Amino acid sequence: MLNDPFGRRIEYLRLSVTDRCDFRCFYCLPRSHRDFEMPDDWLTTDEIERLVAQFAALGVKHVRLTGGEPLVRKGVDEIARRIAKLPGIEELSLSTNASRLSQFAEQLSRAGVSRLNISLDSLNDEKFHDITGSRLQPVLAGIARAQASGMSPIKINMVVMRGINDDEVESMIEYCLEHHLTLRFIETMPVGQGGQAASEHYMPLAEIEERLKKRYRLGVAAMRGSGPARYFRVDDSNLVIGFITPQSQHFCDTCNRVRVSVSGDLHLCLGQEEKLELRPLLRSGATDETIQQAIRGAIARKPQRHNFHEAPTAIIRPMSALGG
Ligand code: SAM
Ligand code: SF4
Repeated sequence: MLNDPFGRRIEYLRLSVTDRCDFRCFYCLPRSHRDFEMPDDWLTTDEIERLVAQFAALGVKHVRLTGGEPLVRKGVDEIARRIAKLPGIEELSLSTNASRLSQFAEQLSRAGVSRLNISLDSLNDEKFHDITGSRLQPVLAGIARAQASGMSPIKINMVVMRGINDDEVESMIEYCLEHHLTLRFIETMPVGQGGQAASEHYMPLAEIEERLKKRYRLGVAAMRGSGPARYFRVDDSNLVIGFITPQSQHFCDTCNRVRVSVSGDLHLCLGQEEKLELRPLLRSGATDETIQQAIRGAIARKPQRHNFHEAPTAIIRPMSALGG
């Protein structure tokens, strides 16, 4: 078991399979960003499989593939297939912008990916383009294809930003109601230059909750694997909406996760710099036991919480480096 010094059990690994992306969401990956990892440093599929097996041996049960945009990594379906087969891995999920999901949904579903989180910040093509630098239509098509291929649950993640898309919260609810999707609202985090620039649009989600309560009946809902979100059922319908409030009400006390970058850095907290480079171990013939010991040692240094309030400009790596 992986227990940290604050009594938290680490059972969830977010694995970034690339730090590249076909989008440029302004709050995540600024257009000026050039500091991408070099291909020689990317963990290979074999290295990923071996590393995840070590985490699984230590009690990690859930792996999420993320990025950058995971679907731009060549062979992502093979990576998924191998992880899904590892003893101890009970759940394999994916975070995606869905731009390439039409192409990949079936093979990912066959590979063992079931749960999907999809970023969708606007249903207006022009605004979507302003936020992401890309087009909305392939994303909507990707969502439809994922549903057709039986992936479930599919959660839509909307980063709510004042003056940008806060006027679209209700239309996003209607869209998710119509398409039987779960919807989660997220507060901006000051991670990297993009996240710090987006801080001027930061909106505490309590404001959205209050606004929605005037229009809808929101009954507290329980969701499996709810993680950091607080969920509500809308008007006794099938629609469940969640609020993820890393800034206004942090949920670090229940943190059960760590992250691995495409180049094999084990990051202990999204909002801190503590990390351990695992690639040198993987490439120097270290035994499984040595790798597991190194992981245990790192978990013993997991920070108690993020410092977004105290040090809002401390994290310079973009969110795309660790996948949220
Ligand atoms: N490309 C995939 C996607 O967009 O879902 C996976 C990686 S993306 C970094 C994961 C999540 O992080 C997305 O839901 C995205 O909206 C969120 N995110 C990125 N930058 C953020 C920021 N500064 N504050 C809050 N959420 C952010
Ligand atoms: Fe790419 Fe996801 Fe970041 Fe948008 S949020 S730039 S889709 S990694």
